[in-house]
Amino acid sequence: MFLLKQFSSCIICGLPTTRAQDLCAECLAELPIIPHPCLCCAKPLPQTATFCGDCLTTPPAFSATHAVFAYVPPLTHLILNLKFQEALVNAQVFGELLAEKVQKVYPFFPDILIPVPLHPNRLRERGFNQALEIAKPIAKKLKIPLKKHICTRIKPTLAQARLNSEERKKNLRGAFLLHQTIKGLHIAIVDDVVTTGYTVNELSWLLKENGARQVDVWCIARVIL
Ligand SMILES: [Zn+2]
Ligand SMILES: [Zn+2]
Repeated sequence: MFLLKQFSSCIICGLPTTRAQDLCAECLAELPIIPHPCLCCAKPLPQTATFCGDCLTTPPAFSATHAVFAYVPPLTHLILNLKFQEALVNAQVFGELLAEKVQKVYPFFPDILIPVPLHPNRLRERGFNQALEIAKPIAKKLKIPLKKHICTRIKPTLAQARLNSEERKKNLRGAFLLHQTIKGLHIAIVDDVVTTGYTVNELSWLLKENGARQVDVWCIARVIL
């Protein structure tokens, strides 16, 4: 019996690739990164700055954001395909890339990973939580416990897109509920896209209020406008 070498195909160009990931080296090299991210929220900054004005004046509850890419095409399509066409292979590839990124910056990894939970209604609709699918390969690669039941989302955020900035913040208040103790833990929250940062900040506040030592945000892409 012959064992045939399995070729994977690239999630962007569709061509076969011999890499371990379903993304060819050429397409990977062209994906847009954030050149000078704020060390706290990952917003793009002028080359000379380390933190953005918002993080300096109103520090969020999280300490750092690690975003692999800028949320511009083709990331927008790849993430929409993941969420709405169930392209779970994208979550696998992105999770591995996120793991590779954070592997280089942490002398000690966080104690646990928490994927940003979806509201039960949304989860039923979609059938899966994309943040959890992204967190799975990270947990496996970095050997960090993945805690998917530690908190739940108790407020639906259906109307979020139609709200202005202040209303969005208010709408998220009390959005999450914590079920287990996390006292003294260093936690990484995993999400697909960080848009305003309000959602991850709300979850971070809850975790910090309940004794988390440090909360960081790990995401695939961040909105850069
Ligand atoms: Zn390709
Ligand atoms: Zn910032």
